[in-house]
Amino acid sequence: MNIQDRIKEILITIPKNVDLVAVSKTKSSEEIICAYNEGLRVFGENKVQEMTEKQKILPPDIEWHMVGHLQRNKVKYIASYVSLIHSVDSMKLIIEINKQALKFNRIIPCLLQIKIAEEETKYGLSETEAYYLIENSIKFNNIKIIGLMGMASFTKDELKINNEFKKLKFFFDKLKLKFHHLKILSMGMSSDYKLAMKNGSNMIRIGSQIFGPRN
Ligand SMILES: *Cc1c(COP(=O)(O)O)cnc(C)c1O
Repeated sequence: MNIQDRIKEILITIPKNVDLVAVSKTKSSEEIICAYNEGLRVFGENKVQEMTEKQKILPPDIEWHMVGHLQRNKVKYIASYVSLIHSVDSMKLIIEINKQALKFNRIIPCLLQIKIAEEETKYGLSETEAYYLIENSIKFNNIKIIGLMGMASFTKDELKINNEFKKLKFFFDKLKLKFHHLKILSMGMSSDYKLAMKNGSNMIRIGSQIFGPRN
């Protein structure tokens, strides 16, 4: 199946309230244009340099999302254009994003990445840390935390994945009672996005299911 057909197949399974981020990391500009021509406008990347190179040559109405781990010293390269950063995981990063956004007179929307998987390798905050960061980021005028992101364990155990998504949704709802401006819950990738949507995700990040496997 080609990119066009894969996108059509995915779009019919996504309700209107769920936003699709097409994760185009390692994929060429030609492949991204293919997806663009199917109507997609939101693309996700996990490397600053790759995203910036693509942003320079691809249509200006594309919204670029940083979904991968972000180093503080690289924020300056994306601050002028990035639409959403999914992977905020420290106060130091919040301060840097705020500082760089100010230079461009922007307010950069961000999500806090929450650690929901048991694996040691996954980045992300505990619930206590996330609460603290949201509360303390309110005083910064050029960054706005508008939701949470989480990645489930890399496993075929659907029950386990389901429980991890459920837990994140529960935490999201609890936070929203106090922080009313939270609106995005970014969870679900190619292998688990249907499970994520069942558990209340309203933003899914799909790569290989759209563009095919990465080398
Ligand atoms: C690569 C990546 C995705 C997409 O993964 P697929 O399994 O190819 O859909 C989603 N989220 C993040 C954070 C990623 O790094």
